[in-house]
Amino acid sequence: MLFNSTKNKSRKFSLGQVLILGLAPDGGLFVPSTTPVMPKSFFKKIKDLPFKKIAFKVSQKFIQGVPEKILKKIIKDSFNFPVPLKKIGPNLYILELFNGPTLAFKDFGARFMSRLISEFLKRQKKWLNIIVATSGDTGSAVASGFFQTPSIQVYILYPSKRVSRLQELQLTTYGKNITALEVKGSFDDCQKLAKQILNDKKLAEQKIFSSANSINFGRLLPQSFYYFWGYAQLQKLGLKQKPIFVVPSGNFGNLTAGLMAKKIGLPVERFVAATNSNDIVPRYLTTGLFLPKKSKKTISSAMDVGNPSNFARMLELYKHNVKKMVEDISGFSISDAETRRTIKRVYKETGYILDPHTAVGIAAALKYRDQTKSTAPLIVLSTAHPAKFKEIVEPLIQKKVKLPQQLSKIISKKKKAKLMANDYKKLKDFLLRN
Ligand SMILES: *Cc1c(COP(=O)(O)O)cnc(C)c1O
Repeated sequence: MLFNSTKNKSRKFSLGQVLILGLAPDGGLFVPSTTPVMPKSFFKKIKDLPFKKIAFKVSQKFIQGVPEKILKKIIKDSFNFPVPLKKIGPNLYILELFNGPTLAFKDFGARFMSRLISEFLKRQKKWLNIIVATSGDTGSAVASGFFQTPSIQVYILYPSKRVSRLQELQLTTYGKNITALEVKGSFDDCQKLAKQILNDKKLAEQKIFSSANSINFGRLLPQSFYYFWGYAQLQKLGLKQKPIFVVPSGNFGNLTAGLMAKKIGLPVERFVAATNSNDIVPRYLTTGLFLPKKSKKTISSAMDVGNPSNFARMLELYKHNVKKMVEDISGFSISDAETRRTIKRVYKETGYILDPHTAVGIAAALKYRDQTKSTAPLIVLSTAHPAKFKEIVEPLIQKKVKLPQQLSKIISKKKKAKLMANDYKKLKDFLLRN
């Protein structure tokens, strides 16, 4: 399997190059140059396969040159937590992706990618710096996933005062090979700084930088596994209709992973792209115009993205044809007021506690069903545990959210972050001195 940049199809890259470079040298995103297909026999028995087996079968199609035994071990170590599908209403399911160490779905990508990169670095005897911009959950998943990984130094850029207190503790309490940089700016500013670092050819002569954002293909691939898994769980329940996947979205890495799963053969009725008021993609789907904006602050802060970086991959998958994209994806933008109402209502009616991001997904799922009268099963991807956003959730449900032990462990730890101006030169100087 070879890869090319979204900006240039002729130059090919190996997976090792893709993982270590993160972003293509021309500034484009890496995409697979060919489309593998999962065989029919795989889908015949999928309902009886464990998660790790599904992950292995799918990853084999993209990862060549890593011995089977090592790939199996990477999968076993990465996905050491459950991924339950829960029914919360008629034809309405939640796929819980938040049971990993940082309580957000980004653990899937970060844990798998760190282990895979480490495997490639080991062979090349290289040292790597990872730079990652985060709106909250990416940073903690990357910090946790890469903590004490040999040959890797990690820098995390996060927007000052725009992540929750618990999120901040999850970013800033690791130490060792993890450095947290608190940027006086928005997530978009952090993302811009990270991109500048990755594109700086002068800097690259002195230090190798790579990305762990969802622009890195290594994070995207493992996120496709749970779409297959979700489908398999429905099959297990005896449901024959193809599912609709509802994906709370910010940078659209998660949705892109689902589109990839469909492209390699997963039966999917449709995707619903659920955003908060940062509605760039839902707007594109209705107008055909992609108009990035400054991000707006919302209560589903991990989705406050004004210029979704994976959009380039989505365009590539649909050959820049908005009509084709609309055949597969519906978009809904959900306001903070609707998000709050959804958290309240779902708790009252079912006892299930939603985090604000998953609530955006549920609200979009219900809107979609209202508008289309679709009878297909809806699987909403649940992207974070409600305890991570208890400041928002608790007043709405009038009840304390129990802290899982992953979080209760860190509350007593001390924040260690370097405050940084939103200034490229200052950042670069710091990285060179470090
Ligand atoms: C990152 C994140 C999202 C958005 O995922 P993308 O892949 O960037 O679209 C949604 N919810 C939570 C909790 C997240 O951390």
